[in-house]
Amino acid sequence: MRNEGLLYIVSAPSGTGKTTLLRGVMDYFPDVSFSISYTTRPPRPGEREGEDYHFISPQQFQQMVEKGVFAEWAEVLGNRYGTTLDSIRESRSQGVDLILDIDSQGARQIKEHFNGGVFIFILPPSLEALKQRLKARGVDEREMIQFRVAKARDEMKQARWYNYIIVNDRVEEAAEQLKSIIIAERCRRERVLKRIGLSKL
Ligand code: ADP
Ligand code: 5GP
Repeated sequence: MRNEGLLYIVSAPSGTGKTTLLRGVMDYFPDVSFSISYTTRPPRPGEREGEDYHFISPQQFQQMVEKGVFAEWAEVLGNRYGTTLDSIRESRSQGVDLILDIDSQGARQIKEHFNGGVFIFILPPSLEALKQRLKARGVDEREMIQFRVAKARDEMKQARWYNYIIVNDRVEEAAEQLKSIIIAERCRRERVLKRIGLSKL
């Protein structure tokens, strides 16, 4: 019997290194899918439609909200982001594991509406380290960096209801931890028994 695809929900304050870590993991697990969100945020240099996000207008986003197509959506730092129900249902029914890179407001909605999600929160080693990373990324102005650090302080409190917390100090170690969580979740007793057809024992 085929298992339902697993849902990994990964959240982190902006600048923590989530994109860096997820890229590494995606290379390691070619069979894991990555959910492409819809957003009203304009693309950053180098970002591509349909690869990083589906970039849509606030009006289009509002229409999608009203049609009920989102499994979750939230406003983050002035822009709206959402994951469609279809993308989750499709992966789950095909037995494909799916990673959602979403904020804690969205993660909370997923926890309320779907069973069996694996919730992973990535923390920076300190707020000072986070500030340095945002500077190094070179995308934001000084004021935006201060705003992101202030928001991160609030966002980090949400880590307490996630299943796993990874502190992204050394990137190789954090990537190893993320991989280990994915592997361990695949080895959970009930999943393995179902996969090998012994779940009725
Ligand atoms: P996020 O997706 O969480 O906003 P990024 O992956 O874009 O963050 O990382 C923000 C910046 O921090 C990038 O310049 C990245 O190279 C750097 N970075 C990521 N992880 C680490 C780490 N463990 N140590 C130092 N710098 C890091
Ligand atoms: P960024 O604009 O830096 O790509 O993302 C900003 C924040 O929005 C990140 O915390 C990211 O996880 C979150 N985000 C991206 N897509 C979604 C989504 O579909 N839903 C929710 N709730 N948050 C999202």
